Amino acid sequence: MSTLIQHGTVATARETRPADVRIEGERIAEAGPALPPRPGETVIDARGMYVMPGGVDVHTHLDMPLGDICSSDDFETGTRAAAFGGTTTIVDFATQARGTRMRDAFDTWMKKAEGRATIDYGLHMIVTDLAGGGLEDMDDIVREGVASFKLFMAYPHSLMVDDGVIFKALSQTARNGALVLMHAENGSVIDVIVARALAEGRTAPVYHALTRPPRAEGEAVHRAIALAEIAGVPVYIVHVSSEDALRQVREARDRGVPAFAETCPQYLLLSIDDLARPGFEGAKYVLTPPLRAKEHQPALWEGLRDDYLQVVATDHCPFCFKDQKALGKDDFTKIPNGGPGIENRMQLIYHHGVNTGRLTLNRFVEITSAAPARIFGMYPRKGEIMAGSDADLVIWDPGAIHTISAATHHMRVDYSMFEGFEVRGNARTVLSRGEVIVDAGRFLGSPGRGRYLKRAAHGGAWK
Ligand SMILES: [Zn+2]
Repeated sequence: MSTLIQHGTVATARETRPADVRIEGERIAEAGPALPPRPGETVIDARGMYVMPGGVDVHTHLDMPLGDICSSDDFETGTRAAAFGGTTTIVDFATQARGTRMRDAFDTWMKKAEGRATIDYGLHMIVTDLAGGGLEDMDDIVREGVASFKLFMAYPHSLMVDDGVIFKALSQTARNGALVLMHAENGSVIDVIVARALAEGRTAPVYHALTRPPRAEGEAVHRAIALAEIAGVPVYIVHVSSEDALRQVREARDRGVPAFAETCPQYLLLSIDDLARPGFEGAKYVLTPPLRAKEHQPALWEGLRDDYLQVVATDHCPFCFKDQKALGKDDFTKIPNGGPGIENRMQLIYHHGVNTGRLTLNRFVEITSAAPARIFGMYPRKGEIMAGSDADLVIWDPGAIHTISAATHHMRVDYSMFEGFEVRGNARTVLSRGEVIVDAGRFLGSPGRGRYLKRAAHGGAWK
């Protein structure tokens, strides 16, 4: 059960060098120049290719209920699509329903993934309620390997919690070593603006963005970081979409505050112009925080380069255009929020980051694999190529040209946000714990082979 990947160029967050990689069982045994093949060993030729740690996407919503519907990818279709794009680990979200225990949500999401996932997966816990044992629940669920909790400052009628709850949750992580993730937008103010828009008959998809101003995001990021500072703990801001929000992270990090943040391909590459497409087309781009004016994009790319943003995740939350997005035909507030992207993250960031010179190859590996693994307690098992790491590897063809399209993608959704985008650089062969699961456009893995990842508390954000 040994495999040798020969003649490739190993690229990690630390270095780029010609090296072979030997895999024994599910783990990497060694990486070094010109390793001699052993009798009976499977040999993979990676000439002209990069050999990188598999991608780690720490923000996905598979099989996520929303009112009467569900995000259209489940753990099988979503993880298979992820693998095609070179991602070998995801961290999804279990949602605590108000008035229930976190363990119920944990059990529910473990059942969703079991028998379906094709790559390894972890879970964050979305906290909606800390009454009745919530703080003990946090400690309990950390012991299950759920070492991170997400709280919402938006969606007052479903997920939003007040500053007191946020502060209590943050303070609890000082004891249990978990990391708090914040969806930072001022939901109360946004709701007032939304109500005004609807009263004025403004119902088209573009009003989704026009009613959620960047300042409402910047304000909430500022508040989230301030609350974490008072509690004396690190904090992680999910899906930073605007320069207003980034400025707050930058200011905090410059003062030495352990504030971490992610952005997503859609904020780097799409804009409010897409939301304003004629007819109902804009509904394909209704996600939250909303797409911003193009002018925000250069700052986000610079933030990634300069480590003010540490992670690119997808916030993959697909809804079909025909029968799901259509629920909001006459009212933008009824359009299910979210878009598909789990398959395209590595392709898009490589093409628009590395090929354009905005990011080095090593920085690309850092923000798509190593940093998320570290911050979320999976490193060096994931996100690294060294003896003992899981053999989650992507053999990347830097010359492969690919046109992204709903006609050929593997996500279970009837459109692509990046339809017609041409990228150079794509995953050729993908290994998960030593098993080739994707090769030259064919899927060779099987549902249920993916394993639950118990993640460690006191991950990289604490160091
Ligand atoms: Zn999300």
